[in-house]
Amino acid sequence: MSATPTHCPYCSLQCGMKVQRKGRAGIEVAAWEQFPVNEGALCRKGWTAGELRGTRERLTTPLVRDRATGELRAAGWDEALDLVAGRITALQAEHGKDTVAVFGGGGLTNEKSYQLGKFARVALGTSQVDYNGRWCMSSAASAGNQAFGIDRGLPFPLADVEQADVVVLVGSNMAETMPPAARHLDRLRERGGKVVVVDPRLTPTGERADLFLQPVPGTDLALALGVLHLLDAQGAVDEEYVARRTTGFEEVRRSVAAWWPERVERTTGIATDELRALVDLLAGSERVVVLTARGAEQHAQGTATVLAWINVALALGMPGKPYAGYGCLTGQGNGQGGREHGQKADQLPGYRMIDDPAARAHVAAVWGVDPDSLPGKGRSAYELLDSLGDGGGPRALLVLGSNIVVSAPNATHVTQRLESLDLLVVCDIVMSETAALADVVLPITQWAEESGTMTNLEGRVILRQRAVAPPDGVRSDLDVIAGLAERLGSPVPFSTDPQEVFAELGRASAGGKADYSGITWERIAAEQGVFWPCPAVADGEQPHPGTPRLFADSFATPDGRARFLVTEFAGAAEQPDPAYPLHLTTGRVLAQYQSGAQTRRIRSLPDEGAFVEMHPMLADRIGAHDGAPVVVRTRRGEMKAPARVVPTIRPDTVFVPFHWVGANRLTNDALDPSSRMPEFKVCAADVLV
Ligand code: SF4
Repeated sequence: MSATPTHCPYCSLQCGMKVQRKGRAGIEVAAWEQFPVNEGALCRKGWTAGELRGTRERLTTPLVRDRATGELRAAGWDEALDLVAGRITALQAEHGKDTVAVFGGGGLTNEKSYQLGKFARVALGTSQVDYNGRWCMSSAASAGNQAFGIDRGLPFPLADVEQADVVVLVGSNMAETMPPAARHLDRLRERGGKVVVVDPRLTPTGERADLFLQPVPGTDLALALGVLHLLDAQGAVDEEYVARRTTGFEEVRRSVAAWWPERVERTTGIATDELRALVDLLAGSERVVVLTARGAEQHAQGTATVLAWINVALALGMPGKPYAGYGCLTGQGNGQGGREHGQKADQLPGYRMIDDPAARAHVAAVWGVDPDSLPGKGRSAYELLDSLGDGGGPRALLVLGSNIVVSAPNATHVTQRLESLDLLVVCDIVMSETAALADVVLPITQWAEESGTMTNLEGRVILRQRAVAPPDGVRSDLDVIAGLAERLGSPVPFSTDPQEVFAELGRASAGGKADYSGITWERIAAEQGVFWPCPAVADGEQPHPGTPRLFADSFATPDGRARFLVTEFAGAAEQPDPAYPLHLTTGRVLAQYQSGAQTRRIRSLPDEGAFVEMHPMLADRIGAHDGAPVVVRTRRGEMKAPARVVPTIRPDTVFVPFHWVGANRLTNDALDPSSRMPEFKVCAADVLV
């Protein structure tokens, strides 16, 4: 049997891999050297991804909660789907269309994301649809749209990074979260380039840095303001570029005038000589790449933080220049495509906005419905969950591709909201913590058992190919959506064929910012991915080649210029005080992915459980010992886990990985005003032995 080229089920790098059947139920993963993004390299999560298929925990039959016993029992597909459709119909008849909500995920294929948004608006008629990508890249998306007029995580192929003179990583632990990508940093350094890492923890990525800055959590924005202040003071602003390609610089120049180095040091903890070292590096370099990730973005000021770093890149004249610019390192597998095709509360396919009459008319025509029948903008992810059940909002929730109980901020509160629903339906491959609360659990196919497209962190649309048949009893998400739509009396049918759905998605996206209309599955396979935008052309014309690099000539704003935007530093929403004197930050570890629903079930991956990382000075002060349990408390909850005492974290900060239940019981649900991103990355905490 020959191996099928496809992509890893996990992060946004979407490493190419070859997959074939092994034994009765297993899958063997092999290198796909020709795929350019990872050139055959995989991290340990990728190498072991096939093990999930063989897990005994795999769900293979629908489950329905028995009203008499309160337990989940096996059911047939017709029984389960009839029950869901019947209860949705009854709830909507009593409480209105918006009483049913849909929650998607940034790991769903483009086809599923598209179909889910259409299902919500057309079959359910609800405005209440959003997804967990809101908690991942939305601040960078919001900033990119404001500054550049478009949101594509990286506006250039990742390999361009190797040709830069300096790469500044703000809040990214690339070496642990996507190890194959870190080889670009090594090659850059072999060429004589420099790597700068900004992170409250000295991670394996920070260890590769030529300059490592360790700010107080939640102060990356102040650091960027200080950098721009010094660049301007040193005469390092590219005035010709600023005049020719941007607007708004003078206001920003005035706004950073008061961010002198000593003030930056007091705010961020970065010594003035370290700040000057960074500015000297940037000022003397021809090609600078600034990359942000969740560490900078998951804040109540996440959008402002990204905008401030974009201002730095613009002042240096980098965006649009070869091997230079600003980019966001997207997190989830389809974090990019997942936010382009309509599962977001305010968007329609093609990155169109749902309150734009022309966008509504275009998409409604593709869907074959009246534009006036489409609902308007719904609640953002956290606001939606906060409103469920007892919160006075929707009384039913359908979840695809998300493990909310582990991944939502202020998770105890959110779990209570889920428990107060009249109907919770979860589609999953295993009994996740969220599925365990459901009234109906629907078992679905996993990555190697299905085909579809994903869009990686570079905006490269790639092909996930079915390599093995799914086990008996499971159905694809597209089947579930179509089955429910039919039972709900949808005015239009829903295809279950992913290639057909992709073709429709292309038509719906035509003319939008994320235009996929010129992309076909055949082209993706032949070209190892196609970068959007890639519009369709008239018959007889050469196909559009796709767009690996954006901004060479103009930005996607009405006047073609990038916008400098003023940002003010306010600090974290919750500051340390005598009761909660420490900063808590959260993040990932090498062997686990997101909520861990998949990776925690893979035996070859170490499941070390949560831990509380702290500095030896803090451990001494509170009497904690490495490996011994400690309790972390915040205003929202507490968790107990072993201490991990390391000198690589700031003494005023503790770190907890978020792959296990617990970390997000602690995190703050303060939201960014623009992106509605919760402040996952910093809150006030106390640690007790
Ligand atoms: Fe590549 Fe990410 Fe998969 Fe690791 S988890 S193999 S870095 S796609």
